[in-house]
Parts: sequence; structure tokens; C-alpha cells
Amino acid sequence: MSGRTQLMWDEAVTGYDFGRDHPMDPVRLVLTRSLVAALGLDREVAVVEAKTAGESTLRLVHREDYIGAVRAASKDPAAADQSYGLGTTDDPAFAGMHEASALIAGQSVGAAEAVWRGETLHAVNFAGGLHHAMPGAASGFCVYNDAALAVARLLELGVERVAYIDVDVHHGDGVQAAFWEDPRVLTVSLHEHPRTLFPQTGWPEETGADSAQGSAVNVALPAGTGDEGWLRAFHAVVPELLADFRPQVLVTQHGADTHFEDPLAHLAVSLDAQRAVQVACHELAHEYADGRWVALGGGGYAVVEVVPRSWTHLVGIAAGKPVDPTTMIPESWRQEVYARTRQPGPMRMTDGRSPVTWASWEDGYDPADRLDQAVLATRRAVFPLRGLLP
Ligand SMILES: [Zn+2]
Repeated sequence: MSGRTQLMWDEAVTGYDFGRDHPMDPVRLVLTRSLVAALGLDREVAVVEAKTAGESTLRLVHREDYIGAVRAASKDPAAADQSYGLGTTDDPAFAGMHEASALIAGQSVGAAEAVWRGETLHAVNFAGGLHHAMPGAASGFCVYNDAALAVARLLELGVERVAYIDVDVHHGDGVQAAFWEDPRVLTVSLHEHPRTLFPQTGWPEETGADSAQGSAVNVALPAGTGDEGWLRAFHAVVPELLADFRPQVLVTQHGADTHFEDPLAHLAVSLDAQRAVQVACHELAHEYADGRWVALGGGGYAVVEVVPRSWTHLVGIAAGKPVDPTTMIPESWRQEVYARTRQPGPMRMTDGRSPVTWASWEDGYDPADRLDQAVLATRRAVFPLRGLLP
């Protein structure tokens, strides 16, 4: 019997804090959590605290020596070992780093367990989605790869097919790396082209190794891609792959840094298109994975203007109470935003682009169009490996 959608939350995740002047400001998590409450959504979900991921869980993805290095940096940040990516500009060491990172990982693992055991149909961890962490190194603001750990835990529980869809503006390189040789996991990442953005991977030609050939899928979008192109690319690639792969669980990563206001990347996607992809992921989970859906956060550096609204939409969709884009944001939340950040908060749950429309791939494509070239490159690289027409 599956109960209400679970929202994984423990105030202590805000301890994942690289310090002043780092773009990943935990205020984005605080403000998301309070916007969820301000719109009454926490009455629609079960808010659940998860167990911290322990050593044996972390070891499902991460190397023992790396975990040791994180623990050491967590105790003594000044002694962080940069050969593990710790104590760097992207991943400065801080006291409590291991504990905060392992808690976020525990939330994603707990979400996956609850979904697989049928305790809930959907679970959301917007503190998660830390997709750049590698088995043996921190990278790109990510210490432990909660997304890969959730997938690995599902495999450990006996799941035979997990699909991971990553729509963060950056390539989901750590998750891809973790399952590069594992045909049980289909990883699909839509991101800004590696030529113009970190981590400079995610080329269409990256398709997986050996028996897992065709289980890694990468759509490298031209800088500047907007709503119509982003949605067109998503729908030209993802549904067909899921129909073929038939996942038992769908894990999705919803980095909000595709947004036109995001300071760290160069796509031009609106909140309304992000919401449309969240709705699509929800529908795809029901269509192809018996509704089993684990939804994660990810990047997002417009921490006031974009992230809280985007992930509040995600929670509403997962809860079966989608927030109407025209909804006005309660003044109480805007006051909290001002008190915490000295910035004015947004007024509405939309960028004014709803409904968003796009042209369907089945209706034809233009070989001279850069977006269509990106989609074609992906379909040609990977679809035949899965026995699908490019
Ligand atoms: Zn990102």
C-alpha cells in the first residue's frame, strides 16, 4: 500500500555549505522548503527524515580511500587533500562536510528504498542531485553522489532496470561514470554543450562500455537553447528510450540551472518549461515505471529568483497537487526572502510563458538547424545500439 508522496527533509541538510561567496548557497534549500510550506504543499506530502548514509551505503559508489579523505577534511578542513578534489575552489572543505553530504545521500537512498518497497509512489529530495561527484573524487560542488547512490541501492535491492534522467544544465557525469559498464542502468543527460560548459563531457558519442553500450545517452544542446528547443529535444529522445528500456524505477534530476537567469550557464529556459519537463517526468514514471518515481534537485544558482519556485513546482507535481503557474506567492514568503537575502522575491509562480509549446520531432526536422543537429547526433549515436531507428 503506497501512502502519500514523501518529501525528504531534515533541516541539517543546510549544513551542506561551502561558505560565503560560493554559488551553491544553502539558502536555496531553506527558501524552497518554506515556499513549499507557504503554498500549503506540506499538508499534501509526508515530510520524512532519512537516516544518514553509512559507510556500506557510500561504498556502493565511492572508494574507501575517498570516503576517508572526506572524513578527514570534515574534521580538519585545513588538511583537505586536493588530490581528491577536496579543498579546491569548487569544493572547499568545511567542518561537518562528511556529515552533511552523507545526510543528503541518505535522503536520496531513503527515497529510493521507500519507492521500491511501495511505502510511497513518489519521493522528492530537492537537496539531492549532486551528480558530479565521482567514485574517488569531489567535483563541481558535489561530494557524495546521492543520485548514483540511490540508483546503486535500487540495484542492491534487486531492481533490474533503473532509468536516470538528468535535465540539469551540466552533464550528469558522475552518475554516467558510476554505471558506465552496467546495462541495468540507462542514464540520459540533456545539458549545455561540453564545448561551452563544465564538466566538458557529455558528448553524444559517450554511449557506455562493453555490454552496456547504448545505456548512456547524451544530448549536448547549443548555448542559448530556449524553451521550445529544450522541450523539443527532451521529447525527441526521452520517451522513446523509456518505452524501449521499460524501467522499474525512474530517477530524475531537476537542476534548475537551465534557467535564463542562472549566472553559471548559458541556456535560456524558463520556469514554465522546467515545470513542463517535471510534469512530463511524472507522466513518464506512470507510463513506463508503474509510477515509481524518485525526483531530485541539482544545480541552480539563481537562489532566490528561480530555485525555490522550480522545486516547489516539482513537489506540487509529485504530490498530485500541481501549483497553477498563475499563483501569486504569499507575502509572508517574500518577507522571509528579504530578511534572509536583502533581495526582493518573485511575485508569481510563473515567468509568464505558460503554456509552453514546442514542435514534435515526429513532424519532421531541419538538418540545418543547430538544435535539430544536436538531437540527431544523439539519436544516431545511441538509438541503433538499442535497436531503435535513429
Ligand atoms: Zn548544474
